[in-house]
Amino acid sequence: MRLPYRCTYLQALAPESSLHEDESPLTRRWSELEYQALWYSGAFGTSFRATNGSLIEIIQFGFWNREPGPDFVNAVILVDGTHELKGDIELDTIVTDWDHHGHGENPAFRSVVLHLFLQPTGVDFFTRTLEHREIIQVKLPANGHSLTEPSRTLAKPGACCAPLAGLTDVKVDQIIETAASLRLEKKSTALRRSIRVHGIDEALFQALAIALGYKWNKIPFLVTAQRATLSRLRSNPDFAEPILFGLSGFLEHPVSSSTQPDTYLHELWARWWRARSELYDLMLRSDLWKLGGSRPSNHPHRRLGALAQIASGWSDFRKLTTNLSSANKWFQAVSHPYWDFHYTLQSAATGRRVSLIGTTRIKDIVANVLFPLLLVSGNADWNEFRKMRSELGNVLLETVCQRLFGDPNRAAKHARFLYQQQGLLQIFEDFCLNDRSDCRRCQFPGLIAKWGD
Ligand code: SF4
Repeated sequence: MRLPYRCTYLQALAPESSLHEDESPLTRRWSELEYQALWYSGAFGTSFRATNGSLIEIIQFGFWNREPGPDFVNAVILVDGTHELKGDIELDTIVTDWDHHGHGENPAFRSVVLHLFLQPTGVDFFTRTLEHREIIQVKLPANGHSLTEPSRTLAKPGACCAPLAGLTDVKVDQIIETAASLRLEKKSTALRRSIRVHGIDEALFQALAIALGYKWNKIPFLVTAQRATLSRLRSNPDFAEPILFGLSGFLEHPVSSSTQPDTYLHELWARWWRARSELYDLMLRSDLWKLGGSRPSNHPHRRLGALAQIASGWSDFRKLTTNLSSANKWFQAVSHPYWDFHYTLQSAATGRRVSLIGTTRIKDIVANVLFPLLLVSGNADWNEFRKMRSELGNVLLETVCQRLFGDPNRAAKHARFLYQQQGLLQIFEDFCLNDRSDCRRCQFPGLIAKWGD
């Protein structure tokens, strides 16, 4: 593969307002969502006095979070002109909503560095994380500013939008492809390392577990796969599912007396409890799992069911790992009499078949596991990978497109294929996530200018 911008891209990775006062009142009462939109638009300004008297400057507003968790993620604030904090921002209507909404008990809010609110309660309230870290509070003016219609874009267009707009589609795509190839090389290096430690089959099984754990349960999936081990599951096929579900901690609640003895859950439970005393020390804590916040079809129970099916079909699967399209078809055909029709261990039947491993997940497995494996073995065909279409619906990708292109039509041209998706994500990680200057010191726009010459 010829990538003319590879060296320049790598070189670019080398290191390198006024205080707000209440102003015009709004003519109507705004909802929390509208205040979030106002905040994100910069309508409140960028400098604030915190409730503890500190001067807070917003260096980076971050990205609007569409998942459960804080309102804005990856923000950067400067405290008293000296102390930079990177993390998330939460905006609540009333300061005590932090506790009323359970944020203080929620691990997803651990990285919050700034708590914005509109109304105090008249008594002191300290915003704290699960670990009792105190979070800086800023009271926003409840009167707000004028803004005709709040928009809810995920991220603001970045400083690279204009120079990228000046390049031809072919040049933009060459940059994206360069970033994609670097990303896939990184993944293959990580996989090679894991193969050295665990051997190819266990390393591959663990990588698949991580891909199935996307995105909130990667670690619990990895630990479950590491502790169960593929060799144990394959040597004892009748116990493979009970071991995976038992080690995950999902079978710790005794089945209720109303559960029919011939149900899937009852069978799992009965088998697991015969193996449990031997494996007890390897079980995961139930609080490591995040069970909410994803589509029912992506529930961790189903994904674990898919991992068990992959383990049981391992010999067939391994014969196909040198051929991306055959492996793709194999994953599409993964099926299970219970999981094809249920979302969780205790849910009612869905009434229609639901793919055990969806197309988006399969594409993710190709990009994160199968193609890196082909790179490790020296059998990778970049041109074949290049032809694979991407799937829509990735919120992170939407954010990247908004940052880099600002224009959905231009973005759509450069996010149709899997390699483009991977390249855009790499640019986001290399530049946007390392930027602490709201684009001002980012190297990417300068690079684009050079490439355009
Ligand atoms: S940080 Fe860099 S790459 Fe990201 S949007 Fe800003 S200019 Fe573009």
